[in-house]
Amino acid sequence: MEKSTEEVYALQLDNQDTLAGFRERFVIDDPDLIYLDGNSLGRLPQATVPHLQDVVKNQWGKDLVRGWNRGWFEKPGQLGAKLADLIGAEPDEVLVCDTTSLNLFKLTAAALRFRVDRSILLSDEFNFPSDLYVFQGVIELLGNKHRLKLLKSEDSITIGDQRIQDAITEDTALVALTHVAFKSAFMYEMESVTKLAHQAGALALWDLSHSVGAVPLKLNEWQVDLAVGCTYKYLNGGPGAPAFLYVRKDLQNQLIPPIWGWFADQSPFDFNLDFTPAEGISRFQISTPHILSMMGIEPALDILLEAGMGHLREKSIQQTEYLIYLAQEWLNPLGFQLGSPLDPIQRGSHVSLRHPEAYRICRALIDPLPDDSSLRVIPDFRAPDNIRLGIAPLYTTYSDIHRALNRIKTILEDGIYQEYSKKQLKVT
Ligand SMILES: *Cc1c(COP(=O)(O)O)cnc(C)c1O
Repeated sequence: MEKSTEEVYALQLDNQDTLAGFRERFVIDDPDLIYLDGNSLGRLPQATVPHLQDVVKNQWGKDLVRGWNRGWFEKPGQLGAKLADLIGAEPDEVLVCDTTSLNLFKLTAAALRFRVDRSILLSDEFNFPSDLYVFQGVIELLGNKHRLKLLKSEDSITIGDQRIQDAITEDTALVALTHVAFKSAFMYEMESVTKLAHQAGALALWDLSHSVGAVPLKLNEWQVDLAVGCTYKYLNGGPGAPAFLYVRKDLQNQLIPPIWGWFADQSPFDFNLDFTPAEGISRFQISTPHILSMMGIEPALDILLEAGMGHLREKSIQQTEYLIYLAQEWLNPLGFQLGSPLDPIQRGSHVSLRHPEAYRICRALIDPLPDDSSLRVIPDFRAPDNIRLGIAPLYTTYSDIHRALNRIKTILEDGIYQEYSKKQLKVT
């Protein structure tokens, strides 16, 4: 079949892409599966397979308990130091440990107790529910002396500067926001919001789950106090890989962590009966690191560091712009609306397309009926009406974007989604 002009154009863009070679570093064995969900679970790097085999067979299998003195004990800090490079932090300011929600709990509780005389925890209505639940739980645990205030959006896509400015007051203890919103991909200007927080005497805590590995970050330069983030999304660390936390150097010894496990102690192997917090970032650990799930992170980080966040961001912007262009040409006439900011400066690396039938369209993309298409597209659905398309510039091609949007168009034009049930699966 002859290729359409549009198709030829997408292939041309792929040919000009200087990062195209990185796609081969990932396990991609089905040419008819278009994966646009690297923002939920990143792909498996080729190098991770032999690495994990070595960890299991040789380190666990042969080293046994000696493994702790052959690198396991230092792993949270060593991986943190590597990750620090990606987020513009010093090596001793980052730890890989626990989950994002748990790290958020630790840092939120420590921050609110540090700013005892202030009562407001400021976040926004775009935040990931787990983050908001953690804030509510910490407030309850600290005796309901604080109040969670949420910034509201006027257009359901962005949060305006003026609203942020007005909301941060002398009573604000902590400004805790997710840098890139999980639904709309709205991205805050981290530096200026952090500055506003500091001017009012508050601390700033950022959740980087949808920005790390997707956009360049300069935590030190932007004077960020605290941060947490996820490693299984754009970092490709594997399902359930441990998260990370960042605490600015000069704050580390001033903050008291809320969970006192033995790995947070000054000398865990002295087995003292009373807890003395370790100096530095180590006090934010809890206990034995998840070595097996942590080991998938390193080969994945190496690829990102090699490609360079500046280059990746450049490609990500070009690709999201291309996606939005096609969506406006093909899909807006079919009832779609852009659910993400149009301005790339305000947008992370995913794009949300909104349609009242978003759920059934996603089902049709993921699971085509046997007599329909052999092409499967994996986006994810975010209630009530978002089809979220993640761009992972390490392996997403322009042809992927072209084929996926063309498929969405067909599903609408031919009414294919009507064959699917409205009943939602457990994980969407
Ligand atoms: C993905 C994500 C999380 C995940 O939390 P877990 O504790 O790893 O389940 C938390 N916050 C945000 C903003 C996220 O995007």
